Amino acid sequence: MSIFSEMMEHHHQTTHFFCHKPTGLKCIISIHDTTLGPALGGCRFVNYPSEQYALKDVMRLSRGMTYKSAVADVPFGGGKSVIIGDHTHLRSRELFRVFGAFVHSLGGQYITSVDMNTTVQDLKWVKETTPYVTWIEGDDVDGGNPSPMTGYGVYCGLKSSLKYQLDTDSFQGVRIAVQGVGAVGTALCELLHADGAELIISDTHNKRAQHVAERFQAKIVDTHEVMSQDVDIFCPCALGGIINDDTIHQIKAKVIGGAANNQLLDDRHGEMLKDRGILYCPDYVINAGGLIKAYYIVRSSQSDTPYDDHKAKEHTTRIGQTLDTIFEICAQDKKMAPHQAASLIARNKLDEIRKQNLT
Ligand code: NAD
Repeated sequence: MSIFSEMMEHHHQTTHFFCHKPTGLKCIISIHDTTLGPALGGCRFVNYPSEQYALKDVMRLSRGMTYKSAVADVPFGGGKSVIIGDHTHLRSRELFRVFGAFVHSLGGQYITSVDMNTTVQDLKWVKETTPYVTWIEGDDVDGGNPSPMTGYGVYCGLKSSLKYQLDTDSFQGVRIAVQGVGAVGTALCELLHADGAELIISDTHNKRAQHVAERFQAKIVDTHEVMSQDVDIFCPCALGGIINDDTIHQIKAKVIGGAANNQLLDDRHGEMLKDRGILYCPDYVINAGGLIKAYYIVRSSQSDTPYDDHKAKEHTTRIGQTLDTIFEICAQDKKMAPHQAASLIARNKLDEIRKQNLT
């Protein structure tokens, strides 16, 4: 694999490799694009099958962050980091302090946060060596937990889809299946239940599912059955890649929208959904609430003004309007699927700012 060819293909700016023998730290930080601002993106701690796999993952994820920020209208670029190895054995305070020092050496070009297998405690250690870190629970900015805001953003996005696909503007009596009732799924269920939706849920964690079912009078189904439920809306809030050749024909819902990243295994599955008459809310558009909150946290820490949850929420509400625009574009250009309209909006925004930067 030629690293420069990979970087050229999707216009990545920089790729940083860091290694620290005493702690066993091996990490890659990928900065895809800083046109809109410093690159923000979480840090994954994964025992990848190969270094090439890790590199591909971090580059793909950093590119996703650029598009997500552009569409969400926040002044961040796209970045991501991966620590390669078994987190159950390698995790230590010293490793994260060293990782923080590496992040710091990039001078604020990259801001890190939690992602797969990294925790708030890890980030507290990172913060001992760099300020370029966000979402720290228990910090003086409202705990920094992004999940309720992400759930609220998904709720706003789904509300926009109602009028386009279900000819209603209310969730009253709308049947909704939620795959995964973790931090975001539970927050989403709470809002949908309050608006009168009928919920079907599934989770591999039985006790969690039971608890959520009791709180929101939801029906629990097996994890293998949730996608084929006879519902109006399907909300993936657990895993990526779940819309693929094996599952797409099972889906009976008329709308798909949820928090999970990379829901389409491949872009062509977005086109297949469109051909089947299913309205897809692009994942990085509808799940941007946590990112929007991070922006307000970073902004407050840089300006010494208190974090304003109301402003973050107001901004997150606009996810609904962004989806309106996407659905309108698709209504006017029948060949265009929502995921294509979303990337068109992102590319146009980046081109516009690049042009302004050149003049
Ligand atoms: P979480 O770990 O709190 O919840 C995920 C839930 O899915 C867990 O309860 C888990 O038991 C369940 N699950 C796992 N496999 C499952 C399966 N096969 N079927 C049904 N349930 C299954 O994670 P979260 O923070 O709620 O995030 C959910 C998804 O949204 C993740 O993909 C995450 O990357 C994405 N996301 C989260 C945020 C955020 O603010 N937390 C922001 C953007 C994207």
